Amino acid sequence: MTHPGHPHIHRQGGELHVEQVGVERLAREHGTPLFVYSKAAMLSALAAYQRGFAGRKARICYAMKANSSLGVLQVFAQAGCGFDIVSGGELERVLAAGGQASHVIFSGVGKTRAEMAQALRAGIGCFNVESESELEVLDAVARGLGLRAPVSIRVNPNVDAKTHPYISTGLKGNKFGVAHERTLATYRRAASLPGLEVVGIDCHIGSQITEVDPYLDAMDRVLDLVDAVEAQGIRLRHIDFGGGLGIDYRGDTPPAADALWEQLLAKVDARGYGDREFMIEPGRSLVGNAGLCVTEVLYLKPGEQKNFCIVDAAMNDLPRPAMYEAYHGIVPVGPDGASPATTYDVVGPVCESGDWLGRDRELAVQPGQLLAVLSAGAYCMSMASNYNTRGRAAEVLVDGSRAHLIRARESAQDQMRMERLVG
Ligand SMILES: *Cc1c(COP(=O)(O)O)cnc(C)c1O
Repeated sequence: MTHPGHPHIHRQGGELHVEQVGVERLAREHGTPLFVYSKAAMLSALAAYQRGFAGRKARICYAMKANSSLGVLQVFAQAGCGFDIVSGGELERVLAAGGQASHVIFSGVGKTRAEMAQALRAGIGCFNVESESELEVLDAVARGLGLRAPVSIRVNPNVDAKTHPYISTGLKGNKFGVAHERTLATYRRAASLPGLEVVGIDCHIGSQITEVDPYLDAMDRVLDLVDAVEAQGIRLRHIDFGGGLGIDYRGDTPPAADALWEQLLAKVDARGYGDREFMIEPGRSLVGNAGLCVTEVLYLKPGEQKNFCIVDAAMNDLPRPAMYEAYHGIVPVGPDGASPATTYDVVGPVCESGDWLGRDRELAVQPGQLLAVLSAGAYCMSMASNYNTRGRAAEVLVDGSRAHLIRARESAQDQMRMERLVG
């Protein structure tokens, strides 16, 4: 099996398939690099959360920065999800994909006044406020529009999520959230401002979390704050516990979403808050292992110290290795051929030594053959750039035996559209 635990991406007759569609055929039809996603894999990841919250008041708000392509958002909107957004642009995407504004929560440390006004006019469900100064500005913007902004305070519980420092967000040294010690004062201030309506509490401790303990610790810290805030007469209708659950990139063993929530909800029930509405903001765990990126081998370049396998996908398509030294599985799309396996660094055409997709990989490949970069559904296309004037890849969403092109390949003309010569 190519993808442990991911039956939707599998081999059939030796060839890699996404659901019932052969990857080779998709690459021939749409070219490479090409992202291919399985709708069933997304829905089955979502189902684990839905099982975890069965019988509860809960809303799953897909953290769309993980993959904000319209076709992907549409899948989650149709499945009843809300959305966790971090910009006004993301709000426009939600609405374009058929999502409901009232099911949108707005996170992020740097919301502008214009974004606040846009979200207030659209009628979003909640602003997750990340600082005391943001609170004052949001109050002023809401009053200016004759509206009241529903708010949660994002608290920084100061727990170590034991993940990569760049994707850890719940420690004191992070820019995110209001410090635990300041939370109570911030809620008192929020409750006193006429342009705001306090509706909940929010916390998000990091990303690619593969252990249960940081979540349990954070939940204890959040519930301590719920006790303290409600003792002030401020009622919290919902508890938003963020996202961050990891996926299996390389033998990682994160807890299943339903098993994790069974433990967390036991804690919540024991402390008497089981009747509240729960919100969560999962991103990576809903889409990460639902996608792969197909790339063609351009050249093999043997060397004294290293052999390079140069492919047509690069750091602009798959930025995670360059940004976080992240690991993605890389496998041939076709059946194993006769060529002997060699150890390669798999690299792209971009003019940067940081442009690598995988190091020291055993591969039996020839130029012209296709490789699949696995676990590429999250934080790949949404982070893609045009560096080296490379057009962004095309994307296909597979649903059973049907393949929908959800993004056409970007041309150089597309890239130059907003630019002007000097005169
Ligand atoms: C990025 C982010 C998420 C989603 O994180 P994942 O690791 O993709 O689940 C959720 N909430 C907030 C506030 C975020 O910034």
